[in-house]
Amino acid sequence: MRLAAVTKRYGSGAQAVTALDAVTLGFAAGTFTAVMGPSGSGKSTLLHCAAGLERPTGGEVTIGGVALTGLRESALARLRREQVGFVFQSFNLVAALTAEQNVALPLRLAGHRPVELSGGQQQRVALARALITRPAVIFADEPTGALDSRTSREVLELLRALVDRHGQTVVMVTHDPVCAGYADRVVLLADGRLVDELAGDLSAQRITARMSRLESTC
Ligand code: ADP
Ligand code: MG
Repeated sequence: MRLAAVTKRYGSGAQAVTALDAVTLGFAAGTFTAVMGPSGSGKSTLLHCAAGLERPTGGEVTIGGVALTGLRESALARLRREQVGFVFQSFNLVAALTAEQNVALPLRLAGHRPVELSGGQQQRVALARALITRPAVIFADEPTGALDSRTSREVLELLRALVDRHGQTVVMVTHDPVCAGYADRVVLLADGRLVDELAGDLSAQRITARMSRLESTC
């Protein structure tokens, strides 16, 4: 997957917000990337554009060699269904369905209702739903933000295993340097721009140091 000079603007005129500003970034197959940056820096917008949930204002997103710009809505929806899994912090489970029906949703197959489950159980169902089709790319937007540390660790180990054992590609937004340490690489956003990239030693200490350097220069 690749983003080439991807720009996303919301609104127009004096109200316009540039949420993403010409971001160029490759995501090799079978790698785990953590996306970090201050609130409002464009992390969610980056995920939404990369996953084909939103169309960029400029630039190009390519998934599996297919440029998304040229696709009609129906082809884009099919590519998303077949290649992409998305996990949100708020789970996005359908309250009217059982946990099993939520998991089966992407396969259009028709117990417990999600509201009767704990946060950790709901996130497992959301993960199962995102993963059941074995998507090539999995996007997770602060998937552990609402979880206790033990359940967070389970979710992160699962994402790591998808990359290591199944060669899937994971892109995860997180605020937590410890969570980011499960990735192969950390990319840092500020004001919609890609401002730093770390690989190798992803200790919480090193990530925190880079982030604070970023804050002091802005
Ligand atoms: P992050 O996930 O890093 O907190 P976002 O990608 O959600 O940041 O937002 C980046 C910027 O774009 C922010 O200034 C936000 O207010 C703005 N933004 C995001 N979504 C919309 C929208 N649908 N309409 C208008 N502005 C938006
Ligand atoms: Mg966000």
